[in-house]
Amino acid sequence: MRKKIVAGNWKMNTLVSQGKALAEELNAFMKTYDMPANKTVIIGTPFTHLSTCVAAVDTKKIHVAAQNCSQFEKGAYTGEVAANMIKDLGVEYTIIGHSERRQYFGDTDEVIATKLDQCYANGLSPILCCGEKLEEREAGKHFEVIESQLRNALKNVSPENFKNTIVAYEPVWAIGTGKTATPEQAEEIHAFIRGLIAKLYNAQIADDTTILYGGSVNAGNAANLFAQPDIDGGLVGGASLKANDFISIIKAI
Ligand code: PEP
Repeated sequence: MRKKIVAGNWKMNTLVSQGKALAEELNAFMKTYDMPANKTVIIGTPFTHLSTCVAAVDTKKIHVAAQNCSQFEKGAYTGEVAANMIKDLGVEYTIIGHSERRQYFGDTDEVIATKLDQCYANGLSPILCCGEKLEEREAGKHFEVIESQLRNALKNVSPENFKNTIVAYEPVWAIGTGKTATPEQAEEIHAFIRGLIAKLYNAQIADDTTILYGGSVNAGNAANLFAQPDIDGGLVGGASLKANDFISIIKAI
């Protein structure tokens, strides 16, 4: 059975002390919460917070993610952080191909494919993001855009490596805007993505893949989104920065 996941993306927010306090609050909740075995909580913190957050939580109950990694293995790449450095901290996941990375930092499909390679080579599970911009949806190109992003990213990914991948559908027009896709709109795309994975790999792998929805998920809309058959949880930005909101979203899964 595929995993249900609530993953927080803190983006470039909080000082280490604040991130530590947030992680500790979530950890205190998870200590007392009876989480079914097929459900997982992940917090995606800035690089500077990873060690502190790994130490602050019970990593069997709260898993820690980075938000990016370098496409290079090691060497003269000033300012970059390699996948094996992230893994070395006890981190299990990293977000790859977030729309903000695509928009501001030149993460093309080709770069994203090399970052995936680095994740697999170093035992990190990628949370691979895809999603269309507003003008692409308005032009009726959303299926085409998502198919092309996923086909390009996964071109050289073996079935064995793909099994360690979480996919996140994040329509760009819904990220940080307060505008959520309706459960029906999101489900339509999630079912399409699952169908595409079946074509790229096989039906069993598609059925086992966790596909998260991201885009203004909050305590009020999470349950309706997660009730859809192909929505296996959420990648949560803004609402993951407030412990009570994030806890409500965890309960909704
Ligand atoms: C995100 O950045 O992944 C995200 C979905 O942000 P928000 O929940 O704030 O829309």
